[in-house]
Amino acid sequence: MAKYIVLLGPPGAGKGTQAQIIAEKYQLVHVSSGDLFRENLKNQTELGKHAQTFMSRGELVPDDVTIAMVRERLARPDCRNGALLDGFPRTPAQASALAEMLKEFNGAVNVVPYICVPAEVLIERLSGRWTCRSNGHVFHEKFNPPAVAGICDLDGSELYQRDDDKAETVKNRIKVYQEQTSPLIDYYRKNGLLVEIDGTKPIEEVTKDMLTAIEDAK
Ligand code: ADP
Ligand code: AMP
Repeated sequence: MAKYIVLLGPPGAGKGTQAQIIAEKYQLVHVSSGDLFRENLKNQTELGKHAQTFMSRGELVPDDVTIAMVRERLARPDCRNGALLDGFPRTPAQASALAEMLKEFNGAVNVVPYICVPAEVLIERLSGRWTCRSNGHVFHEKFNPPAVAGICDLDGSELYQRDDDKAETVKNRIKVYQEQTSPLIDYYRKNGLLVEIDGTKPIEEVTKDMLTAIEDAK
């Protein structure tokens, strides 16, 4: 059976940071819906331009386009053994669509690590985040600085600050998370898949807790 891990948590909780480490350890493909939208935008596709109108306001891209995009990604051969999902699902409709599509891909969600971080910490995390242009690797100017400022340690590409990491947009993204995504905490708790992880600890400690949660779920 293919294995699927869903990372849940507010924007800035550390999903992308942990996904980078865990995907490598388990040789799982890291599927980030935000990265897929940004890649589409970089390539100026219709999907990218459509998504940008929502992303720049810190709103969610509508479910139908988001679900279709993720489904297409998960259907590719490199996801045959499963994937590490980061930023998807973000609404109850996306969660049901995911459950349905995984049946077709001969799998199911195995575990949902929920990275808990209070709102006031998220603002500081996102305002100091630097993202790599080529592959979406993330750094923090204070908490996880790159060896050379402005350059990605992993692939040497340029680091930039995302437009939607501006304080005003971040506040809306957190509000949208609370209204539209946080119901998924209960949804996955009721399914018995949720494992709460304290995301305020240093990155390496969060990784240890995540690995324990994933191993226990096997
Ligand atoms: P998400 O993918 O959930 O939006 P990121 O992984 O991009 O979050 O992390 C947001 C910012 O916080 C990044 O700049 C990252 O380097 C930093 N960060 C991630 N985890 C931690 C942590 N445990 N402690 C301090 N900073 C962190
Ligand atoms: P992220 O990279 O996860 O912080 O996502 C950046 C932005 O992309 C979000 O603020 C949304 O506008 C959009 N986005 C990413 N994933 C989704 C999703 N699953 N559903 C709707 N919109 C999304």
